Amino acid sequence: MAEKNDLALEEELDEDMLTNILKERYQQRIIYTYVGDILIAVNPYEDLSLYTAEQTATYCNVANKADHPPHIFAIADNAFGEMMRNHQRQVAVISGESGAGKTESTKLFIRHVMDVSARGILNTATPATRTRHPLEEKIIQLNPILESFGNAQTVMNDNSSRFGKFVELKFNESGVVQGASLSHYLLEKARVVKQGPGERNFHIFEQLLSGLSQDERAEYGLASQTEYSYLSSRVNDTEQLTNEFSEIASALNKVGFTSQEIGDIHRVLASILLFGNLEFDDAESDGAVVTNEEVIEAIARNLGVERKVLEKGFMTSKIKVMGDIIVRPLNPSKCQHSKNAVAKALYDRLFTWTVTRLDMMLCPTEATTAVHSIGILDIFGFENFTFNGFDQLCINLANESLHHFFNQHIFAAEMKAYEDEEIDGMSVMFSDNVHVLNLFYENPGVLHILDEQTKFAQGNASALVKTLKEQLADHALFEVKQGDLSFEIKHYAGPIAYEIDGLIEKNKDPLPEAMASSMSTSTNALVSLLFHHNLVSATRKGAARTRARELTRELSRQTTRRITRAATVKHKSVKKQAADLGFENPDTNKGLLGRIARTFKRPNVETVSSQFKQSLDALMYKMSLCSPHFVRCIKPNPNKMPRQYEDALVLKQMQYTGMLQTIKMRREGFSVRMSFEELISSYQGIVFKFSDKMKYTKGVAEELLIKCAEKQEANRQDQKLTSSLSGWLIAKTKVFLKY
Ligand code: ATP
Ligand code: MG
Repeated sequence: MAEKNDLALEEELDEDMLTNILKERYQQRIIYTYVGDILIAVNPYEDLSLYTAEQTATYCNVANKADHPPHIFAIADNAFGEMMRNHQRQVAVISGESGAGKTESTKLFIRHVMDVSARGILNTATPATRTRHPLEEKIIQLNPILESFGNAQTVMNDNSSRFGKFVELKFNESGVVQGASLSHYLLEKARVVKQGPGERNFHIFEQLLSGLSQDERAEYGLASQTEYSYLSSRVNDTEQLTNEFSEIASALNKVGFTSQEIGDIHRVLASILLFGNLEFDDAESDGAVVTNEEVIEAIARNLGVERKVLEKGFMTSKIKVMGDIIVRPLNPSKCQHSKNAVAKALYDRLFTWTVTRLDMMLCPTEATTAVHSIGILDIFGFENFTFNGFDQLCINLANESLHHFFNQHIFAAEMKAYEDEEIDGMSVMFSDNVHVLNLFYENPGVLHILDEQTKFAQGNASALVKTLKEQLADHALFEVKQGDLSFEIKHYAGPIAYEIDGLIEKNKDPLPEAMASSMSTSTNALVSLLFHHNLVSATRKGAARTRARELTRELSRQTTRRITRAATVKHKSVKKQAADLGFENPDTNKGLLGRIARTFKRPNVETVSSQFKQSLDALMYKMSLCSPHFVRCIKPNPNKMPRQYEDALVLKQMQYTGMLQTIKMRREGFSVRMSFEELISSYQGIVFKFSDKMKYTKGVAEELLIKCAEKQEANRQDQKLTSSLSGWLIAKTKVFLKY
């Protein structure tokens, strides 16, 4: 099947042939195929020994990609090479449905980039068996941590990422890794309190319950609990979960989390589980009382908040009556609702804090110079369930944006190349999705209307649907359906209906009002940080303190005392004293701190969707500065099974990822371009003598191509040749050849 390594090279290809080639390759355990520069990866759902030390060595500094079979390592190697040669930022966009293999591909890509980088420096033959540099080790540890906190078993995938992530690896001038930065998008926090049939909570909860010692369990108030209402099924302690738990603890430790921080994380996780088990009854007068005393006591202890303050935080609500604020107790059913909101907020903030800390700990220090970067995007694919809500709306918007990016790169760039060279009459057919993006972004548009209704005090589902109908009635890609219960958007991947009920609520994402202030009284450093009203300064202080702790390890005892003292005094003085002592600024990443602060301390006017849009815009902008590499992950069957290939399922994915159009364009268009000089200097020997001094002109280029074609025609008649130079265009400064 080697000759079918690149589908763009096939002389003829229709949909049936395409699926047959992919299927045949899959049956021969060949999961990777190129379409020009794009890599298709079909999930094998089994270990095919594709990532051995030998493979690592094969795909290091490869000069010509076509010399080796398609591989994810080849894409990583190519990205690294391009970065070094062209001094340009690179980005790998890894896309596909849930379970298609994005996260696995991301890990392999990162691993290989670091191996190629190290090989360049070490000049050794066996990069896979070398000892990793501590910084590389830290970067490798990112994934198990993120997967434990952000992944969960779903119907689609036993290890499904419930958040999107963008990792950027940073390198210096010589290609030595200097650090990494990390952003995440939209954690599916609703999973903390409820999971659908056949699904589970985030891995970390089960790992925690299995991995804690008896003493720790007793300390956190978990020993007396036999079941957890937030877990879909009972957790049976397994050796595997226990091992995973200690691996995560050791990964956190390796990356630089202190044991105090790790303990605090455990306390927050335990509290979340305990919130789930809280039960309420009617109070004698008004409101509710907690019926399981020991549970609320344990939560208060874990979170470092007085029980009374804690209860006031989520069991009451504030209302404004004629300018006065009145605190009213909530009834038992409202308390249930409120405790879930707190549990979700706690987990969401814990996750954001963890990602931000990882980012801080891996960011290149000021002493180093990171001039190059390779970004890797592993983000949720299109989602279309029986019920689609706010999360799906955001996720699918992200996919529209990514598809637009892909189109721009592959098709629009193609069009522009023809235009620049003044070649008329060349059309590049592709389904441009800019109208779907406009439907989201324009005013009036879906996001704008949703935001407006979210900010109105009177905003509700019926007002939302009314406005949507009034303002978007004529939009061809939009339709209100099901007697005003949902609206349908015609996405590039197909129509998807979104339920209107719940959109405004989710977009507001309210936290029980008094909760933030009661949590900020916490004696648990982490909890008070997560809810600190002034998170910027708090995080800086935290960062300064942590940096000082890191310094303490590195420095002599005398210096240690001075730095630690400084850290406990004040952030500013730490900075100054650290600087006085000649250490780098502990407060290096202002943008990052701004980001975490924005996430937590959301002004009233900022909605979740507008923040998501902002982070998406920032991502798209960053990506537009990079040279992209596309990896399209394909799911061969819905059963998570090896060696099962469903034609229709694969074809559907090839269609909506634009692969069929890409293949067509590569074959029918003139996708190989060369300047006259390149063409003549490389091929003049075919028809002229290499020693002839040829001029690099349009006329000579044309003569060369005509003579080549004549020569080929003669060979063809002698049956010496099966393929030929099938067509060309001579433009202003270049020749355009068929692929
Ligand atoms: P989600 O969107 O749900 O996060 P995903 O696209 O990230 O899905 P992965 O978690 O990467 O999917 O892959 C799902 C499973 O498929 C993996 O847990 C693994 O069992 C298998 N798998 C993926 N890629 C490979 C591979 N290259 N070799 C062997 N197995 C693989
Ligand atoms: Mg994933």
